[in-house]
Amino acid sequence: MIARMEKLTIFWFRRDLRLKDNHGLFRALAEGRNVQPIFIFDTEILSRLEDKDDARVSFLFETLADLKARLQEKGSDLWIYHGTPLGIWRKIVADHRVGAVYANRDYEPEALRRDESVRKFLETQGIPFHLSKDQCLFETDEILSGQGTPYTVFTPYKKRVLSILTEKDLKAFPSDKQESSFHRGGATDMISLKSLGFEPSSIAIPERKILKSVLSDYAKTRDFPAQAKGTSRLGLHLRFGTLSVRELARVARELKAETYLSELIWRDFFMQILWHFPRVQTQSFREAYDRIKWRSSRSDFQRWCAGETGYPWVDAGMRELNATGFMHNRVRMATASFLSKHLLIHWSEGERYFARRLLDYDLAANNGNWQWAAGTGCDAAPYFRVFNPSLQAKKFDPDGEYVRRWVPELGTAKYPKPMVDHDEARGRALSEYSKALKGKSP
Ligand SMILES: Cc1cc2nc3c(=O)[nH]c(=O)nc-3n(C[C@H](O)[C@H](O)[C@H](O)COP(=O)(O)OP(=O)(O)OC[C@H]3O[C@@H](n4cnc5c(N)ncnc54)[C@H](O)[C@@H]3O)c2cc1C
Repeated sequence: MIARMEKLTIFWFRRDLRLKDNHGLFRALAEGRNVQPIFIFDTEILSRLEDKDDARVSFLFETLADLKARLQEKGSDLWIYHGTPLGIWRKIVADHRVGAVYANRDYEPEALRRDESVRKFLETQGIPFHLSKDQCLFETDEILSGQGTPYTVFTPYKKRVLSILTEKDLKAFPSDKQESSFHRGGATDMISLKSLGFEPSSIAIPERKILKSVLSDYAKTRDFPAQAKGTSRLGLHLRFGTLSVRELARVARELKAETYLSELIWRDFFMQILWHFPRVQTQSFREAYDRIKWRSSRSDFQRWCAGETGYPWVDAGMRELNATGFMHNRVRMATASFLSKHLLIHWSEGERYFARRLLDYDLAANNGNWQWAAGTGCDAAPYFRVFNPSLQAKKFDPDGEYVRRWVPELGTAKYPKPMVDHDEARGRALSEYSKALKGKSP
């Protein structure tokens, strides 16, 4: 494929699929020569996906095809591999002379283990592995309390972030202005989605466009799911890095869109929670809550998944999720609370279902928000809050527009009766939660 003589600097794309304002890519191009971008379709991740037409894989595939075409226009290429990361790195190092490897840091427990194993391998070959901060505004232990401990409540965390955030933190890295450092070794063919074992999805992908009016009006519109442009729908692009979080935060700051900026800080907040407390992946953040006697009911769970609970607000949300891969935040909170409180089914089951369906699925945000809604996580007001789905609908969908869109049979004999009575279910949840916490503070 390439002459063995040329030493390559490899840039490894992961959750940062863009040429513009990409910190790791910028460093690779500034510090290295013959920069060859690569991507690895990780067989271990792909094999866990349940749906052959998973919309995230289709999106990833299209995005990579586009990146590859744009790199080829510059005379370079994107090399795409399919396998286990360590196996692929062994192959790359066997096939080429590699001088250095660059990537952006990833904070999920599994990604940290992957990078550590790759780092160790590269070290045995005398190849440095340089990681940069790109995915978030502040990472790991950059934001700590005065006592040097991680923040576990959002408001003080946010205050701290806002007190130190400057333009410098949001500076763009002009990775797209360094093209002369790319390796020019000829074009290779794009692999096919089929060869990865997947099929194209019919789910529409939200546009990667920062609409300034959405950010400016966000504080007024964000709570109403019937509004098509009430929120930015940029979650997927932040997840895959097709949009720079610094760019988005810069625009929010310029517009003085504080509520919107706050959401990006929530995103960072849960990333640092997962990084400091990786046990939350499988356990409650507040450990005493692991003693709750959860119910196990396949049929109740399936009614919740299908949007057949008899609570229109919950059903509208679940049906929106199933049809589009998106659910509005207000409704995510209510559906998650319904599963964990009304049905008393373990939050991790709902978390897994969201992970399967959400286009913007992100382990830190999904886990953090599920635990928040279930009352087992980082929240100043833990388990006593049980959302009343009917009141939520009245407040946030006063004309019933959102509910009618997703539950058109409402009011006919086809629509199911509520599967649980709100007051009884609330009482049962409070009683089970308090039993689990006997002798412990909530
Ligand atoms: C049970 C539950 C599960 C969730 N799972 C996810 C998930 O897997 N991935 C995810 O990105 N968000 C998740 N959220 C948070 C939030 O609902 C979504 O980020 C938001 O609805 C996405 O829509 P948007 O892109 O229009 O966001 P906007 O409302 O326009 O907000 C902009 C961005 O800020 C970030 N953000 C906003 N709210 C939150 C939050 N509460 N926590 C973390 N980041 C936030 C997201 O990156 C979002 O795209 C979850 C919330 C709940 C209650």
